[in-house]
Amino acid sequence: MTFTETKTFQNYIGGEWRDSASGETFESVNPASGETIGTFPRSSAEDVDRAVEAAKAAFEDWRLVPAPRRGEILYRFANLLMEEKDEFTDLMSREMGKVKAEAGGDVQEAIDMSLYMAGEGRRLFGQTTPSELRDKFNMSVRMPIGVVGVITPWNFPIAIPSWKIAPALISGNTVVFKPATDTPLLGERFVELLIEAGLPEGVINIVHGGGGAVGDRLVRHPDVPVITLTGSRETGVEVMRNAAENLKHVHLELGGKNAIIVLDDADLELAADGIIWSAFGTSGQRCTAASRVIVEEGIYEQLQSRLVVAAEKLRLGAGWEDDTDVGPVINRKSLEKIHSYTEIGKDEGAKLLTGGEVATGNGFDKGNFYRPTIFGEVDPQMRIAQEEIFGPTTALIRVKDFDEAIRVSNGIKFGLSSSIFTRDVNKAFRAMRDLQAGITYINAGTIGAEVHLPFGGTKDTGNGHREAGQAALDVFTEWKSIYVDYSGKLQKAQIDTET
Ligand code: NAD
Repeated sequence: MTFTETKTFQNYIGGEWRDSASGETFESVNPASGETIGTFPRSSAEDVDRAVEAAKAAFEDWRLVPAPRRGEILYRFANLLMEEKDEFTDLMSREMGKVKAEAGGDVQEAIDMSLYMAGEGRRLFGQTTPSELRDKFNMSVRMPIGVVGVITPWNFPIAIPSWKIAPALISGNTVVFKPATDTPLLGERFVELLIEAGLPEGVINIVHGGGGAVGDRLVRHPDVPVITLTGSRETGVEVMRNAAENLKHVHLELGGKNAIIVLDDADLELAADGIIWSAFGTSGQRCTAASRVIVEEGIYEQLQSRLVVAAEKLRLGAGWEDDTDVGPVINRKSLEKIHSYTEIGKDEGAKLLTGGEVATGNGFDKGNFYRPTIFGEVDPQMRIAQEEIFGPTTALIRVKDFDEAIRVSNGIKFGLSSSIFTRDVNKAFRAMRDLQAGITYINAGTIGAEVHLPFGGTKDTGNGHREAGQAALDVFTEWKSIYVDYSGKLQKAQIDTET
């Protein structure tokens, strides 16, 4: 598909579509073809301040709308997304580059999350407890917090906004959303559907622009008590530091360096399929991508050969073409970063088994295409085995046994996803216990989360919060404990101990 006309888009603030205060713009570009997708406002602090003001004003009423009614809007949103799924899928393959099947999965995840959180409108459970005093009633309830600043990356341009915006809204908060500058049109379409679903003015606002201007202003704005960010570790550290002044609630979902362990007794065909899917799906640009494969020595050579053959069969191409297995990477900078890690791996002494180059010819030069890359004989301490590359590159590490495999898997600063292929149930259970990660898969690759379970990681992958499932509500609500004393007299906890 090609675009003959480039449209100009706006911010949505307080129920109105507006240009940026400065009138400046930036373009979104198709990573497969280099074509311009659209022109967007390059916003500044002034635009953020307006959006926060609108969201703050809207909060006063939205927090009082009964949660089941808020849920009905999310149901409508989910239905609209179902109706528009094909359009969103196609747009995603053009703006972000994902192949169609995966783009459809990204949209489906947002549908699932919206339905799940719509249902929360009739739950949002708190607790009732006994009191230590007579004629007294105790309960805890979830309270909305206020304006939530939502800052998202480009790699799941519909799913990730839904993981944050759906629970924020169902809990009674209002939102200022800053999508990644590589995928602004998908962010914009997401908001259009929320408006169509019936969200009142000011409840959802979108402000386009860069992390340094728009994101940073949200992070520092005194009227934004909650910041939820998915991005790189470096951005997370900066955001946490800059939000500290106002003691904000900061929810961070950051990088990964996920490993698949394959033991000698594994089903090798299944393991190879899981590795190829997890390493090269979304061109390796998933926070849960398998960028390390830890292999017990008895099957190392056999697995390595299978993986090289399978990687070389993958067809590189534009995401919207039916026969494409691996799409482009997001932009030039990313392409250069990925290739620099190939050079680093070679310099470190790892063995380049396949790939390791920018794809050229065949129309590839217009986009950002990198050949699926596998390094063999990688030492666990090498930079290609420690640092997040965020591209179609994976590193094979040879280990002598299960214990070493677990040590190597854990020997990184991140802790997002993990996986083991084995037929030994005892080892599988030990792995479930000992792998230091927020997610562990048994006999499946490292990718493919479901929305009703908590999602997130340990160590430097985050700051202890979780997205999705019931756990997400903890980010967007504040617990309030309520004591109702109907004794008609002053009763003192811990002091009046008579029964
Ligand atoms: P990024 O950190 O460059 O940007 C993420 C978002 O933060 C963007 O919207 C960006 O504009 C904004 N931003 C940048 N600097 C900022 C600042 N100082 N203040 C406020 N906002 C700022 O990340 P990216 O390249 O868009 O995404 C890739 C990264 O995201 C990878 O590290 C990947 O692992 C991570 N990721 C993590 C998860 C997860 O759930 N753990 C999921 C997807 C992606």
